[in-house]
Amino acid sequence: SQVLAGKVAFIQGGSRGIGAAVAKRLARDGAAVALTYISSGERALQMVKDIEAAGGRALAIKADSADAEAIKAAIGQTMTKFGRLDILVNNAGVLAIAPLADFSLEDFDRTLAINVRSVFIASQEAARHMGGGGRIINIGSTNADRMPFAGGGPYAMSKSALVGLTRGLARDLGPRGITINNVQPGPVDTDMNPAGSDFAASLKAMMPVGRYGTAEEVAGFVAYLASPEAAYITGASLSIDGGFAA
Ligand code: NDP
Repeated sequence: SQVLAGKVAFIQGGSRGIGAAVAKRLARDGAAVALTYISSGERALQMVKDIEAAGGRALAIKADSADAEAIKAAIGQTMTKFGRLDILVNNAGVLAIAPLADFSLEDFDRTLAINVRSVFIASQEAARHMGGGGRIINIGSTNADRMPFAGGGPYAMSKSALVGLTRGLARDLGPRGITINNVQPGPVDTDMNPAGSDFAASLKAMMPVGRYGTAEEVAGFVAYLASPEAAYITGASLSIDGGFAA
């Protein structure tokens, strides 16, 4: 059933990994989908072709999530092409890991710019166009709750920041019938965190389910939060992490 028929979704970072799975899932559920990318132009175009081949509508836009004007322009392009905006998914993210002594301020600033600042900018801009039933879904991380390895303090901080941002913005948006939630995945098999590495083996060893999640599993959760059925959930940070933080 096409529960999102007639709706328009905008996904920051939809060319690969979790964002790409979310784009495909929301399109399958009937939404027209605009997705941004920064370097994977070919993969983004292929996403559009795949969604169109399946009977959906899609648009790929090159827009650096570290650049406020680029984000606003991309949302403007989405409005021009599809005429409305119902669902925002803030998925673009970077993971910088380095020992404390070597962690560069450039990486610290870029982590905050892409993982946190872009979420605020896109939420502010998208909310101008949303009506009742609007949905904002952030992709945080279980690392907001549990950080069992060194070198990722700034990453964990960026994902913890989304917990508070999501709570606060829920107060702004609730009276307008718009919900905002923060999905916190555990380890998910993507380019950012391949399931076959030695690092992955150490993470699996501490997890109740003993495996990585799939991007499609996260996309299913996002699709639920985007649906009309989820109207009573807002301001929440919800984990889908195979028990990583248990
Ligand atoms: P990937 O690195 O596999 O994909 C990242 C996506 O974000 C790509 O589409 C990429 O575009 C896009 N992106 C990155 N930087 C920018 C930017 N500056 N501007 C626009 N788009 C950008 O990551 P994942 O799919 O693994 O992660 C997606 C989200 O999920 C992130 O927020 C991550 O922190 C979070 N997460 C991931 C987990 C995991 O284990 N994989 C666990 C918990 C959370 P392009 O292809 O052009 O580079």
